[in-house]
Amino acid sequence: MSLYLYNTATRRKDLFEPLDPNHVGMYVCGPTVYDRAHIGNARPVVVFDTLYRLLKRLYPKVTYVRNITDVDDKINERAKKAGEPISALTVRTTADYHADMGALNTLVPDVEPRATAHIPQMLDLIGQLIKNGNAYEAEGHVLFAIGTMSDYGALSGRSMDDMIAGARVEVAPYKRDPGDFVLWKPSDEETPGWDSPYGRGRPGWHLECSAMSREYLGLTFDIHGGGQDLVFPHHENERAQSMCANHRAFARYWVHNGFLQVEGEKMSKSLGNFFTVNDLLATAPGEAIRLTLLSAHYHQPMDWTADGLKQSRAALDKFYLALRAVEDVPHEPAEELPIEVLAALEDDLNTPLAISHLHDLASRLNKAKGFEEKVKLKAALLASGDVLGILQSSVDSWFRWTPAGGSALSDAEIDDLVAQRLEARQTRNFAEADRIRKLLTDNNVLLEDGPGGTQWRRG
Ligand code: AMP
Ligand code: ZN
Repeated sequence: MSLYLYNTATRRKDLFEPLDPNHVGMYVCGPTVYDRAHIGNARPVVVFDTLYRLLKRLYPKVTYVRNITDVDDKINERAKKAGEPISALTVRTTADYHADMGALNTLVPDVEPRATAHIPQMLDLIGQLIKNGNAYEAEGHVLFAIGTMSDYGALSGRSMDDMIAGARVEVAPYKRDPGDFVLWKPSDEETPGWDSPYGRGRPGWHLECSAMSREYLGLTFDIHGGGQDLVFPHHENERAQSMCANHRAFARYWVHNGFLQVEGEKMSKSLGNFFTVNDLLATAPGEAIRLTLLSAHYHQPMDWTADGLKQSRAALDKFYLALRAVEDVPHEPAEELPIEVLAALEDDLNTPLAISHLHDLASRLNKAKGFEEKVKLKAALLASGDVLGILQSSVDSWFRWTPAGGSALSDAEIDDLVAQRLEARQTRNFAEADRIRKLLTDNNVLLEDGPGGTQWRRG
């Protein structure tokens, strides 16, 4: 067992050695709940869910924490614009997020802390940072003084000069150094706020994750994940806060997913290439969306294309067809993953390689003759699917999936037409049998005649 992960902190693939081999801790930055998740947002969720599934296979216990940022200026603005209470917006968006990510077969994290439920822990951190001389109060704000941390910038590899140049764009006059960042800021009457020694206010975003990771995973923990865009400033600042408050190492392995583009362009509403997960779920099954997200290596940028989604769906058709042919073969869950799938995933979560092994397994299952061989390959395919979070439906429900807006023919109508066609064939009325087949094909229903009768599926 030797898992390697690309660690942003060391800029190489490191052998993963958890602090406690019996209990792995992983923290992933979760959503800011003001809008439905887009397909780019789904990438880290699916990637880290796959890592979670793998870790659960490799270690006795894993605690996966993914927060919900439910206090943020984007939330405040959105609620104000819509004339909606903030809590109604955050509760609804959180529920939508759970539904959308659930449809992508992502497991529920062990802890899903909400920022607003951890304000005392954030204030504790601020108190420690002030006491340690790393933070200062200015005009109702509390700021982290980056100059007090000798290796500030080490995670993102930015020099102090780069960061100062970047921060100069909009320097608040009360900052001692342009790169200093907010731990606490004042709230007016209309903005959510909590009483604090610094006046009524609200936390800065970076502070939330430092407080919640400490609460649930302790001062030093194994894996911290998120999208590439979070390396700087968010993760750099989380690291600074936590290390300066705790005087301990923070996350040991920093894992970041690359960005997703759509059809070669940056996703944006104005280009018309912006899709929410919910939009896509109306056009394709969740597993096909998930497999598409896993078809590129997580660390690389990925190009989301309609063609890629079609190919993933076809790959899943192939896997499910192989499983359909062995429906009567018992499923004896495999203790171990096939060695080649495990090796691919242990090599920095190489999901494209793992998927190519699933293709091989399905082809071998199709060709298998002996009963034992079929039992073994079926178990191997299902176990491999499980760690990737696919092949979680029944064969029938996979093939009977219908896009939103439904299909012209219901399952019962199709069953009925298939029975009528069988009757026509039995009475040698081939013209009628052909007419029914054409009617079904025209309605996107494909028939497969096999020794066990006729199976149908939506195309
Ligand atoms: P946000 O709600 O913008 O904070 O984003 C939530 C998560 O989605 C973060 O981990 C981001 O890094 C990630 N993310 C946002 N856009 C993309 C994208 N286009 N591709 C990949 N990850 C993204
Ligand atoms: Zn975070």
